[in-house]
Amino acid sequence: MVALSITHTKECSIPQSLLEMAKDLVLAQIEAHRLSPDEMQTALQHTYSSLLALQAQEDSNGIVAVETPETPIAVHWRKSITKHTVSCLACGQSFKQLSLKHLKEHGLDGRSYRAKYGIPRNQPLSARSVTAMRQQIVQQSRPWEKAPTYLKAQEKAEQARAQQTRKAQRKRVMRTKA
Ligand SMILES: [Zn+2]
Repeated sequence: MVALSITHTKECSIPQSLLEMAKDLVLAQIEAHRLSPDEMQTALQHTYSSLLALQAQEDSNGIVAVETPETPIAVHWRKSITKHTVSCLACGQSFKQLSLKHLKEHGLDGRSYRAKYGIPRNQPLSARSVTAMRQQIVQQSRPWEKAPTYLKAQEKAEQARAQQTRKAQRKRVMRTKA
């Protein structure tokens, strides 16, 4: 069970039930492994404010709004990226990774997509497993070793090594002659 750190203030007029509801929703997400405990706090706040908005609507109209907003308010971008899928926040389709080609269908690119949904710039738009795999590949292939500065340094080291071997060989040759 995850400890929830929710502080109740006196001016908080929200009935406990709403908070409970938000908590249950978020806990259900965690149990379904769609949410890490780290993300819980954000999700909880988000769910809570969504419920709050719904209640406010209910209170003012006397009815629950039936129309669904274009972008579901409860969908936080973090929820769109799970271990095995990333879902497009514009249309809800799931992918291993969000391609530029797909984003183009919405008239977006990686940059504008991130901006639209408040996703950090360095957040990869791919399933977590895909991101992890890519990072592993980057580690293994060591792309920095292909960088000109690195190559030059390697070359110099190689030349120095070769020179030393030559010197050593010459010495040995001279010794055998003598
Ligand atoms: Zn889409």
